[in-house]
Amino acid sequence: MRITGNTKVVALLGYPVTHSLSPAMQNAAFDEAGLDWCYVTFAVTPEALRRAVDGIRALNLAGANVTVPHKEAVIPLLDELDPGATAAGAVNVIVNRDGRLVGYNTDGDGFMRSLAELGIETAGKRVMLLGAGGAARGIGYKLAQTAGSLGIFNRNAAKAVRLAERLNAVRPVVEPVTELSDMKAADIIVNATPLGLSADDPLPLDPALLGGRQVVGDLIYKDTRLLREASRLGCRTFNGMGMLLWQGALAFELWTGQIAPVKVMRTALFSTLR
Ligand code: NAP
Repeated sequence: MRITGNTKVVALLGYPVTHSLSPAMQNAAFDEAGLDWCYVTFAVTPEALRRAVDGIRALNLAGANVTVPHKEAVIPLLDELDPGATAAGAVNVIVNRDGRLVGYNTDGDGFMRSLAELGIETAGKRVMLLGAGGAARGIGYKLAQTAGSLGIFNRNAAKAVRLAERLNAVRPVVEPVTELSDMKAADIIVNATPLGLSADDPLPLDPALLGGRQVVGDLIYKDTRLLREASRLGCRTFNGMGMLLWQGALAFELWTGQIAPVKVMRTALFSTLR
């Protein structure tokens, strides 16, 4: 990649950002598409978020990704929201349209594309989400549209109640869950908490609640202990790599208006794991 006087810049705003796999994936995509664009990361503290968003305007960046902990806090700082981002209450993509910053959420569609690729159907299924943060909001918005029912369990139970209320406006099939034992009846369980990122983390649920019948997913990009335990018990499992790929492909399309080179993006992502 060569930086020129015309290079357009897309930035990731998060805190921390050093672990991000998006630069490898997006820069490979810009290169493949022959675009004079580049993707960089900025560690932005919560106190600096407003100034960072103003910086997108001031520096005329082409757009941004938004990650932990800013997906909700960024909303009032934008000029416009896509209806999906409004319903989810979380933004992971910003597009700079001639100085107007428009917020989108591609997490939910990215998650659904990754399930479709694996042949995992959510229609009519009992789905349980562990977590009620930024990622849970994005995928919850899509699951509320398709699932037979959607349960939300969260450490901070009041947040699960608030998210269930929000998602019930999309389709009234959502309820907060206060007992992890309810997972026994689930068809699909998705961990949307960071539990599992570190090898010493406790499991987000007791594997004794898994009967081998459930599909168990984790939004973390690697096979976590939860997935290994679930797989050992006979459950079908998936990790967050597919969602990462597809949310990125959809973001690329929003920024550039071009079809994303998904094959190259996938190869770039997997090469970061070697
Ligand atoms: P977030 O907004 O900070 O939300 C974190 C959620 O996890 C909250 O519901 C929080 O509960 C819960 N949580 C945090 N620590 C916990 C603990 N020790 N025990 C129990 N619950 C805990 O983060 P996020 O953006 O939603 O990200 C969540 C996970 O999804 C991360 O691992 C992230 O890497 C992954 N992710 C993956 C993708 C992808 O493309 N694959 C995209 C986005 C995120 P409280 O409300 O009680 O604090």
